[in-house]
Amino acid sequence: MMRRGLLLVVSGPSGVGKGTICKALMKLREDIVLSVSMTTRAPRVGETEGVNYFFTDHKTFESMIQNGELLEFAKVYDNYYGTPKAFVMEQLEKGMDVLLEIDIQGALKVKEQYPEGVFIFILPPTMEELRNRIVGRGTETPEAIDKRFTAAYNEIDLMENYNYFIFNDRVDLATTRLISIIEAERLRIRPKFVKTLIREIKEEY
Ligand code: 5GP
Repeated sequence: MMRRGLLLVVSGPSGVGKGTICKALMKLREDIVLSVSMTTRAPRVGETEGVNYFFTDHKTFESMIQNGELLEFAKVYDNYYGTPKAFVMEQLEKGMDVLLEIDIQGALKVKEQYPEGVFIFILPPTMEELRNRIVGRGTETPEAIDKRFTAAYNEIDLMENYNYFIFNDRVDLATTRLISIIEAERLRIRPKFVKTLIREIKEEY
């Protein structure tokens, strides 16, 4: 049976661990493809071109924006991040489910263009824990930490635009919840496609 893939958008405030959950999911599942983003930030130690990101410069990134090659993009702390459109669309056409791990600004832009996507909001277990995770990230000044925490705290209000939420209290539990959402979405009857689905089920006889 041929179906269009699901566009799975995993997002949430910075510091909630959405990257960790997506990595855990990708290790468990071969039937989901991860969209590799473009970015203008420099690679970190251990990061590989084409695996973690496609690393590029501002000029190239801006020409991709001009040419409509990105499904969405956002500027996060002075660097551009964006989702190459062609790869995502090709995979969906082929019937593959595609996972995007992007920030909230980007997720809301994807929703405008592709409202049939599945929008999943990752939450910290508590606000206290979110603050600890932001502090734990490194060498930032107390003012910078406060700024990041306030931004993350305010971003939680944007959860109302999403379809699902997941508390990231433990990575294994959060990953199981994400898999449950994907399995349920695969079985959801979508008015737009139900006629085709019924025909295909009957044609199997
Ligand atoms: P990092 O620099 O730590 O890898 O990522 C910084 C932030 O950018 C994270 O919140 C991550 O989810 C977000 N991000 C990564 N790729 C994309 C993308 O293609 N589009 C958008 N909008 N955000 C992204």
